[in-house]
Amino acid sequence: MFAWIDDDLEERRRRGLYRVRRRLQSGQAARIRLGGRELINFSSNDYLALAGDARLARAAAAAARRYGCGAGASPLVSGYSPPLRALERALAAWEGTEAALVFSSGYAANLALIRSLAGPGDAVFSDALNHASLIDGCRLSRAAVYVYRHNDADHLADLLRKQGRSARRRLIVSDTVFSMDGDIAPLGQLVELAECFDCLLVIDEAHATGVLGEHGRGVTESLRPGPWSPERVFKVGTLSKALGTQGGFVCGPRRLIAWLINQARPYIFSTALAPPTAAAARRAVAVVQQEPERRRRILALAEQLRRELREIGGNIGDSCCQIVPLIVGEAQQAVRLSRRLEEQGLLVPAIRPPSVPEGSARLRFSVTAAHTETDVKRVVEVLRGKIPMRSIV
Ligand code: PLP
Repeated sequence: MFAWIDDDLEERRRRGLYRVRRRLQSGQAARIRLGGRELINFSSNDYLALAGDARLARAAAAAARRYGCGAGASPLVSGYSPPLRALERALAAWEGTEAALVFSSGYAANLALIRSLAGPGDAVFSDALNHASLIDGCRLSRAAVYVYRHNDADHLADLLRKQGRSARRRLIVSDTVFSMDGDIAPLGQLVELAECFDCLLVIDEAHATGVLGEHGRGVTESLRPGPWSPERVFKVGTLSKALGTQGGFVCGPRRLIAWLINQARPYIFSTALAPPTAAAARRAVAVVQQEPERRRRILALAEQLRRELREIGGNIGDSCCQIVPLIVGEAQQAVRLSRRLEEQGLLVPAIRPPSVPEGSARLRFSVTAAHTETDVKRVVEVLRGKIPMRSIV
C-alpha cells in the first residue's frame, strides 16, 4: 500500500537527501550533548545565546505559576493573556511601530501577512531564495507570483515593468538576511522600487532581528528616511531565533494589525502563544536593548570565521553576517564534511537540496554570542586541506 512512500524514501537515501532527527541530550547552547558526546554547536539560530539564559527562564517560570503553561484558546477567544499583551507592546515600542501582533511561529506570521495582503487578481514579486514560509504564503494567496533572481534589483525592476500591470495590488516579498547564505537584500532599492511601482513591501527579518542594526532591530534600521512611505513596508520578525524563545511577529500600523486580527486564518484558528513563552520573549526584548555587546561579539566572530575560511580556500559566497556558508557542491560531499567535523567535536549541519539549489550543498555555520575565538580556530584547523577543490574560489 505504501510502495510509493518506500520508493521515495529509497531515492532520497540514494541521493544523500534522507533526513533523520537526532536526539538532543542537553539544553540549547554553544556546547550541547548529542549522540552521547559533547559538541561545539554551530547549528543553532540561538544567535544571542538567550535560549538558555536564566533571566528568560525565571520570567517563564513566574508566568507559568501565575497564568499556566498553555494559552488554552486562540487569541480571539480567551487566549490573549497579560504576558502576550505585554510582549506585543514591548515589541511595538522597540520596533517604533504603532502596533505588533504575535503569532505562534514565524512561519505562521509570514503565511498570515502575505495571504492577507494579496489574493487572486494580485501580483507578488518574490526573491528566488526566499524562505519556504514566504513561498508558501505566496502560494496560499493565489496571486500571480513572479520570481526575481536572488538580490537582483534590476531583474525585479524589469519584472515590475512587464508583469502584473493590471493587478489590483502588487507586493514585493523578501527576506532581509537569507538564512542559507547569510547575505543581505538590497533593502534601499526594494523600497525605492516599491515606491516607484506603487507596491507594498513585505520583509522578513527573521535572522536579522536582535543581531543587526545599532539597536538590534534588523536591516530596516539602515533604511534612511526618504521619499517613500513607511506605510508601504510591512515587517516580520521571529522570537525563535536571536530572541531565544518561540513565535513570530508582524509590526506596523494599527489598522494593518486590526486587519490581521480580523481575517488572518493562521492567527484566528490557532492557539495563542503560551504565557511562559510570551514572558520569556519579553525579557529577551529587554536584553537585546540593554546588551548591544552581544551582537557586536557575534559579528566580530563571524568576520573571523569568514576571513579564516577564505584563507584556507573556502567559498563562503556573499555572507556578511552571523550565518556563514561553506559551499561545497554535491550533497554527499557536504554530508561527508559535516561528519568529519563532528568526529572532531564540531556540529555543523550539511544543507542540501531542496533547502538550497542543486549543486550548491554546503555547511552552514551559525555563529552565536557564546562561541569563542578558539571555537572558530578549531573549525578552521579541522577543515584545513579537506575542502574539495571545486569549492575553492
Ligand atoms: N523566516 C525565515 C527567513 C526563516 O529562516 C524561518 C525559520 O527558519 C522562518 C521565517 C520561520 O520562523 P519560525 O521558525 O519562527 O517558524
